[in-house]
Amino acid sequence: MPATFQSLGLLLEKVESTKKRLQIIDETANYLKTLDAEELEPAVNMMVGRAFPKYSQKTLDVSWAILQRILTQIAVFDWNMFREVMAKTGDIGSATKTVLEQSKGKRQTQLTQTPLTILEVRRALDVIAQTQGAGSRTKKERQIAVLLSQASPVEAKYLVKVFTGEMRTGLHEGLMEQSVARAFDIPLAKVQYAAMVLGDIGEVACKLKTQGVESLGKAGFCVFRPVKLMLAQTAQTVEEALSEQGGASAFEYKYDGARVQIHKQGPAVRVFSRRLTDVTESLPDIVEAVTQNISADSAIVEGEVIALGASGYPIAFQHLMRRFKRTKEIGELRTQIPLTLYLFDVLFLNGESTIAKPYTERRQLLAENAGKIALTSQILTADAAEAQAYLKEALSAGHEGLMAKKPDSPYTPGRRGKRWLKIKTVLEPLDLVITAAEYGYGRRKEWLSDYYLGARDPQTGEFWDVGKTFKGLTDAELTGLTVRLKEIAVSQQSHKIMVLPRIVVEVAYNEVQQSPKYKSRMALRFARITRIRDDKSPDEASTIGQVREIYERQFKTKGKLPEIGG
Ligand code: AMP
Repeated sequence: MPATFQSLGLLLEKVESTKKRLQIIDETANYLKTLDAEELEPAVNMMVGRAFPKYSQKTLDVSWAILQRILTQIAVFDWNMFREVMAKTGDIGSATKTVLEQSKGKRQTQLTQTPLTILEVRRALDVIAQTQGAGSRTKKERQIAVLLSQASPVEAKYLVKVFTGEMRTGLHEGLMEQSVARAFDIPLAKVQYAAMVLGDIGEVACKLKTQGVESLGKAGFCVFRPVKLMLAQTAQTVEEALSEQGGASAFEYKYDGARVQIHKQGPAVRVFSRRLTDVTESLPDIVEAVTQNISADSAIVEGEVIALGASGYPIAFQHLMRRFKRTKEIGELRTQIPLTLYLFDVLFLNGESTIAKPYTERRQLLAENAGKIALTSQILTADAAEAQAYLKEALSAGHEGLMAKKPDSPYTPGRRGKRWLKIKTVLEPLDLVITAAEYGYGRRKEWLSDYYLGARDPQTGEFWDVGKTFKGLTDAELTGLTVRLKEIAVSQQSHKIMVLPRIVVEVAYNEVQQSPKYKSRMALRFARITRIRDDKSPDEASTIGQVREIYERQFKTKGKLPEIGG
């Protein structure tokens, strides 16, 4: 019997109602055991809030505004009730379910129809993703309406969550990995490794079901399937970096640009952004540089792309983002904003993974295979004074600061660890998510220009406000954000418009203060937006724990009394 989408919804209802990790893993593992091989990948991905595998470039492109319109068409949808539930739960899926349950009977659902299966839902999502281009909107809306009108309230709840990417059940990627390990009774580390190289936990589950445990040992990177990025933690000083990394570090310029992961196989090259989106079409100059310089038959390399002005100094990040976003008529922009690539790592070379090799060895391999493409400026030293002078040099050349890398460390995909440290130069900016917005006053009254800023709770995926600001953005940015925020608006409380947590902004501030105003009990003082980080996804936003850590650190240094001598 094919598994129904209802069964997946009911499992997620159970998961959502418990906060106990072990119980979540148990329930999920038992459920996975009931699924067929071809159901596993779609089910696993939808359960963690993805319509398609992680590495897939397919997108649904369905805004909440569209879903709202469709729900109004297919059901007698009580928006007042919706807003009430939203205000209580902040969860559009749950609010949709409650309203649909109330409007039961009035919906135009055919009662005789057979229940939706997981595979049917995936097929429908595939069709929706493929519907693109001119005149596609109405078609797409019709497809979504057909799908939603076949759904029970519980199914609609989770379809809305898949469409908006807001799962919030507590079953995050890490727990899913544990559930897969439990379902197939194999060590977690094996599952994690396979998910890393195959780029998708759903695919791992499917492989386990069809080919057994042995198949995981043979799994290797697939060129053109982006690998999760290794990320950095923060160190306060070069001394701290040196002591964390065991005496000597590879210090490198930290360029204020955008990260790329470049895949090459024979003559074909594809470039992925930090969010693992395929940006090849936007960056023909990077593709050319790689084609002309990297002669290895297959390779996966990483680097930072920056835009240098005529003076040789980096130009503002927002211009660089224009390059990343433009996919057509690139010619002129390409001359206006020429890009420079600095490579810093290699993950795969001539058919073999290099991630387990020490960093110094990978860097050597990179140097041998990069042709004329520059590598990041680097010194290897154990001397804090030398590192400090190097930091000064990086800053005066207009770069962001320094990265310190542990010389003997492997590349660990998807991990933010101490093997890479970014050296803090000022109070580090936070990457926060806009959770709500208000219209401004006077000149700004047409713009949603006052923003509530949320930090991420990694346990639940919720965002907790830690501040509010109307500072830092240009008129053009305010206009653009107003349009985007309206598209993701979910509800309104007097003049405050709640939005889906989608837009990441980098926020500078002078201090983290204690505050009774927010649930987080913290508030940023003099918060100002320094840039819109469209290259970061909300699940990369700073966590509430990081904000608390900054709060506590600063509190310690402030609270300390000067030592009284003799
Ligand atoms: P974060 O993304 O906040 O973890 O900070 C690290 C980011 O700095 C990387 O993701 C890169 O985009 C960027 N970066 C700039 N220069 C370097 C470098 N030399 N090595 C690694 N990352 C760099």
